[in-house]
Amino acid sequence: MRKNEFRTAGSYDELTGLFHRERFIEEVRRRLILNEESPFVLAVSDIRSFKLVNDTCGRDTGDRVLIRIAEMLRKEAPAKVCYARLEADHFACLLPMEQLDVGRIDELLRSFRVGSRESDPPLFLHVGLYEITDPSVPVPVMIDRARLAIASIRNEYETRIAWYDEKIRSGILFEQKLLRALPDALKRHEIQPYLQPQVDAEGKVIGAEALARWISPEMGFLSPGQFIPILERSGAIAQVDRNMWEEACVILKRWKERGREDLYLSVNLSMKDFCFLDLPEVFQSLTDRYGISRDRLRLEITETVFMQEPGSRMEVLERLRQAGFLLEMDDFGSGYSSLSLLKDMPVDILKIDMVFLDGTKSPERARRILKCVISLSDALGMGSLTEGVETVEQLKMLKEMGCRMFQGFYFDRPMKVSEFETRYLLTKKEAF
Ligand code: C2E
Ligand code: MG
Ligand code: MG
Repeated sequence: MRKNEFRTAGSYDELTGLFHRERFIEEVRRRLILNEESPFVLAVSDIRSFKLVNDTCGRDTGDRVLIRIAEMLRKEAPAKVCYARLEADHFACLLPMEQLDVGRIDELLRSFRVGSRESDPPLFLHVGLYEITDPSVPVPVMIDRARLAIASIRNEYETRIAWYDEKIRSGILFEQKLLRALPDALKRHEIQPYLQPQVDAEGKVIGAEALARWISPEMGFLSPGQFIPILERSGAIAQVDRNMWEEACVILKRWKERGREDLYLSVNLSMKDFCFLDLPEVFQSLTDRYGISRDRLRLEITETVFMQEPGSRMEVLERLRQAGFLLEMDDFGSGYSSLSLLKDMPVDILKIDMVFLDGTKSPERARRILKCVISLSDALGMGSLTEGVETVEQLKMLKEMGCRMFQGFYFDRPMKVSEFETRYLLTKKEAF
């Protein structure tokens, strides 16, 4: 028999000796019918990257891990509780709500390791919990729901246990729907850039930021907050970004042909783009193909780019700058914005977010910091651009602080490309 393989003998899984899936489902059904009064919880567990354990430590180690989980269940599960190995690395347990001890489960999950020694590497076990409020729901659906709860914390290391709720269900269904719709949406150009002007201290439009909007015939108008985080999690963001950059090049080429090479476009980069794309190669071939001067395309990155492999990320950024692209550090002030990053970061423009001033207990202190950040960027030879400018008072204050570039609702909202062109590019002689 191949290791880890799920083989059964009667009602049992051969490897662990626990109930198998079919028997578990039967047993859960039976208990729910017998105990209509007391509320039950269905728990399902999942090992993060179990495939990796098999691949790197060998299938025998994988088998031992599964056997140890079964032993843990036998030892820890309260008497008369029903548990099983559903398949592969998924175990399940049905228990009355009053016997559920989430603290103890968390403790067990946190101490679990690949082997039984303290020095063995930790193994990430997640548990999804589903409270059975309606016993008539088919048991496989209950199992799926507990699994959906796990999916909601799949990428988290600190949270090991999650409850299923309706929010999780609709969130995950939406995520699946988006990812299924993406290939066609890209083909049909449903994801388009909207442009928001960037202005200088005299109020003259000097360029724009390209911000993605997904206009879907089925799902309606989606703003980036609704789809970018989902695409980032799945890595599909790289295809969308690559598309957005090409759209930006198409626009810049058109503007160049109309004699407006003075305007630039800023595009957004995601941390995942660095994993999936050779960025210097992609940007150089795009600008070459469309015959655009490289400094017309500004690349916005956020500090999350440096969360992994900062050394090699810096190198990529250096190569981009050497090739002639301008780099902007986006959302500066809204995250950690570490000074050491500022020291090493090869960027040309610091893009400061006005949210920096929001919701603070001491606005005067925040204002002083903002002023220092603007002077600091000056001293470091970087330009500063403040985004999120909404009022004339904010603009006046920022100008006094020495900021020379702005973006925000005070000037204009992100708009369709055609609208932007009509509003800001139309000369007396020609219309786009
Ligand atoms: P961001 O790059 O910081 O873009 C600025 C966001 O601030 C935009 O939201 C813009 O509409 C909003 N904004 C502009 N002016 C104001 C203002 O005065 N007040 C307020 N409250 N907000 C203002 P949007 O378009 O919803 O984009 C949100 C974020 O989504 C962007 O933040 C960016 O991180 C991401 N994003 C947008 N398009 C793309 C894309 O093509 N690729 C990637 N990777 N991310 C994108
Ligand atoms: Mg941006
Ligand atoms: Mg920003």
